[in-house]
Amino acid sequence: MRIRPIAIALLVALLGVLAEPLTVAADGIELAFPVEHDQARFSNTWGARRSGGRRHQGSDIMAPKRTEVYAAASGVVTRVTASGRAGRYVAIDHGGGWETYYMHLNNDIPGSDRGDAPWFLTVAWGIHEGAEVRAGQLIGWVGDSGNAEGSSPHLHFELHRNGKAINPYPYLVDALGRARLANRIAMEAARALDVGMLVAPLPTE
Ligand SMILES: [Zn+2]
Repeated sequence: MRIRPIAIALLVALLGVLAEPLTVAADGIELAFPVEHDQARFSNTWGARRSGGRRHQGSDIMAPKRTEVYAAASGVVTRVTASGRAGRYVAIDHGGGWETYYMHLNNDIPGSDRGDAPWFLTVAWGIHEGAEVRAGQLIGWVGDSGNAEGSSPHLHFELHRNGKAINPYPYLVDALGRARLANRIAMEAARALDVGMLVAPLPTE
């Protein structure tokens, strides 16, 4: 198959745009989708009623147990701990007043639902308080810990600005769109090159 160098150059340029560092803008933050995107289902449940008069403060990204969870932006891990409601969770400080939370992480040994898994089945190697992470880096795995026990496994994802939760839904939709676009471009490029597989960078940093 003959391909025009210009077409390849355009694809490479587009990949470069997608893979360029995520930056914190004055009025927003560009996120990397925090779950393996082909496994994920989510909808806008911001503000939905929860037990005890609480309102839902994040987005629930439904995915099978042990689906990979990624840092939504670069930053420093500030919490790797557990609470009754959140279960096992991670928090990351991205600077500029932005923080993200990853809740209900996996606490089960494969094949069980006892919630007694060692933490290396919850968070990835090197994820501890004070660790620096990059956008798109593997930080842990989806689970059903905390008050998600007995319901479907999911990542409860929160986005905070200056200490206050804001609706992450539009940021996630945007991130998912970019992840899918990057995938499609990689597939098209692979087809164009007729080499079967092109290892293309996803927009992870
Ligand atoms: Zn939730």
